[in-house]
Amino acid sequence: MSDQIKEVKIDDLLMKVEKPARYLGNEMNSAHKEINEDMVRFAFAFPDTYEIGMSHLGMQILYHLLNEQQDIFCERVFSPNTDMENLLRREERPLFALETKTPLKAFDFIGFTLQYELSYTNILNILDMGEIPLFQKDREEEDPIIILGGPCSYNPEPIADFADIIVLGEGEEIILEVINLYKKIKQKPNYQKADFLLAASEIEGIYVPSHFAVDYHADGRIKEVRSTEKSGGEQGLKKRIIEDLDKAYYPDKILVPYIDTVHNRVVLEIFRGCIRGCRFCQAGMIYRPVRERSLEKLQTMAHDLLQNTGYEEISLASLSSSDYTEIEALIHHLIEINQKDHIGVSLPSLRLDNFSKELIEEIQKVRKTGLTFAPEAGTQRLRDVINKNIREEDLLNSAKEAFEMGYNNIKLYFMIGLPTETDEDILGIKELVYKVLNQYHSLPKEKRAGGLKITVSTSTFVPKAFTPFQWEEQISLEEIHRRQSILKESLTHRSINYNYHDGKTSVVEGAFARGDRRLSKVLYKAYSLGCKFDGWGDHFDYQKWVKAFEEEDSSLDFYSHRKRSYDEILPWDHFDIGVNKSYLMQENNKAKIEEVTPDCRLNCSACGINQKFTSRGGVC
Ligand code: SF4
Repeated sequence: MSDQIKEVKIDDLLMKVEKPARYLGNEMNSAHKEINEDMVRFAFAFPDTYEIGMSHLGMQILYHLLNEQQDIFCERVFSPNTDMENLLRREERPLFALETKTPLKAFDFIGFTLQYELSYTNILNILDMGEIPLFQKDREEEDPIIILGGPCSYNPEPIADFADIIVLGEGEEIILEVINLYKKIKQKPNYQKADFLLAASEIEGIYVPSHFAVDYHADGRIKEVRSTEKSGGEQGLKKRIIEDLDKAYYPDKILVPYIDTVHNRVVLEIFRGCIRGCRFCQAGMIYRPVRERSLEKLQTMAHDLLQNTGYEEISLASLSSSDYTEIEALIHHLIEINQKDHIGVSLPSLRLDNFSKELIEEIQKVRKTGLTFAPEAGTQRLRDVINKNIREEDLLNSAKEAFEMGYNNIKLYFMIGLPTETDEDILGIKELVYKVLNQYHSLPKEKRAGGLKITVSTSTFVPKAFTPFQWEEQISLEEIHRRQSILKESLTHRSINYNYHDGKTSVVEGAFARGDRRLSKVLYKAYSLGCKFDGWGDHFDYQKWVKAFEEEDSSLDFYSHRKRSYDEILPWDHFDIGVNKSYLMQENNKAKIEEVTPDCRLNCSACGINQKFTSRGGVC
């Protein structure tokens, strides 16, 4: 860090903002270090509020991993809330990292996590407030290296023009390699950032977008993605995974905030990947293969994390927790060791078909947590199309058991706009919800808790990269509204509460989820028009987005609603994530004939991941 760069003074601003604790940076287990010249300074940037970012597991892992290295200092930065942003801008003070209040431009690296397409404008806002040129091509030697990773980096093209490097795959597997390389190259005489980028692009899992160029057909489709003369080759285009999770880094402590965040609890990640293969689900494809942590390892992790944080709740994290092979043993263990301290266990992602009454009863012994089920579609036909291997009786039996156990609050998640969906499928949601309601009323009064509440939520299907539905069209805004109205008019019972996501945000999300590099300009335009915090209903301004697309001569329809053919080159086709395109096509074809694929433990469908990415070679 250069000597002239001074920390940003914020003491006088703290009393003027709503929640000063968001900006203090001295929470329990936060890192504070003696800074020296040889240290690599890394700012982990989360493009949303403190409360959301602090609940993000990836941030906790990378923060502690980096800070355990003597010569690296990782600090945090979140999107400042509007009150703090206004003060900083008015006072012309740059955005800073929390731990030392160092201005962002003094860092070696700023690492953003791409969790959600609608957080992209916040990335631009953080760079702008940090006085860092937004576009990669405008940055100078002394500007930080901007590194992006996370689930949206599997199609990073719409934000590629703002990035120096993009990580494909699991960050804790690769980040130290990148930083160590940087340290080595930086020591060389006449160091240039380009030397580092070239060397970094030779690391598997590191994509340098400026080393690639894209050509287009006259109708707007991609003609070719080609490496330029700057390129270090194509090694970087293959995702990186940790093969053995027991050997992967996991912190034995996590940051404990002073204020309420989304998850105020210990999070225990039990496995990665998913055996199920739902055809709409991006996480289920990009995080393959399934890798479980051993029971012994999880027991140690849980013990250390609870001790080092003082939290009274532990949450099991994974894509589908009840699929963990030793789930019962794990829960028994957690309950046993924690009962005396009144520690709750929450299981956020239960499936309907292996819902275990015994398991729920165990959890309930300590604390009753809410129950959420996600049948996703209202009819069996559509559940077969999307490969959600759940039957109506699974849901009804599970709901009945839950009501018998005294639950009176159930959440049901569905999607609208799934491929092949008809009005009959929409009405199927209504019928299913009323059948759940009837399960409750079929119990004798003395056997059920009063005050039933069924919350039905629908989101709109957004086709995502690397899923069997990546070629499908997304329904139009008018159609989203029409289908939502059908449900609004039919879910009127006083015990039922119907929520739905704003269709307009889904349309913009859809454009960026399958967008190409030309959307960087649209993104910049939208940001210039004032878009930020687009994932928040009270900030999102659809008209500004429409205007940004128009002014950049781009089309929302082209990106969101257009069906792609199998032979079209997709913006993410140059990445290798292990799952073969032929497998995705096969799954897409099976959806058309309503044929299901069994889960990966029952039968391997040869998606390709284990053949190419692990030493297992065979099945999950
Ligand atoms: S198809 Fe085979 S390798 Fe792929 S996820 Fe299923 S079991 Fe694993």
